[in-house]
Amino acid sequence: MAVMITDECISCDACASECPVAAILEEDNEKNPKDGILYVKPESCVECVGHADEPRCVEACPTEGAIVWDMPYTMDFNEYYKGGNEEGTYKIREHKKKGLMLPEQKEQPFIAEIAMSDREAHANIGRWA
Ligand code: SF4
Ligand code: SF4
Repeated sequence: MAVMITDECISCDACASECPVAAILEEDNEKNPKDGILYVKPESCVECVGHADEPRCVEACPTEGAIVWDMPYTMDFNEYYKGGNEEGTYKIREHKKKGLMLPEQKEQPFIAEIAMSDREAHANIGRWA
């Protein structure tokens, strides 16, 4: 990630089609590990770097607190995502040959200006901040 969708989500689906890298799974997608909310695939989210100035999903979202910051998808947080995958917080895609697509397999771009404390606190993004 990246960004994370929380229990505040009302499943309006406004964000999914806005994602430039198809990182958001709708509620009824069989790969979505969440119940009743949408899910951002951390191994796919690029925080809209190279696509927009702000996360597009947040621009589309009508619900404050439904999309928040998460940790960057980089090697520094490999264990964080691995642990989350084991706990069920995340469902990291599994590649036939490479295995789990953790940051050790492929890091993703992230917005460097975001304070790590905001990421740790899963703080609001952009227009809600
Ligand atoms: S921040 Fe951008 S890349 Fe990440 S889920 Fe939202 S729209 Fe997709
Ligand atoms: S736009 Fe916001 S409230 Fe609507 S589905 Fe996406 S995260 Fe949930």
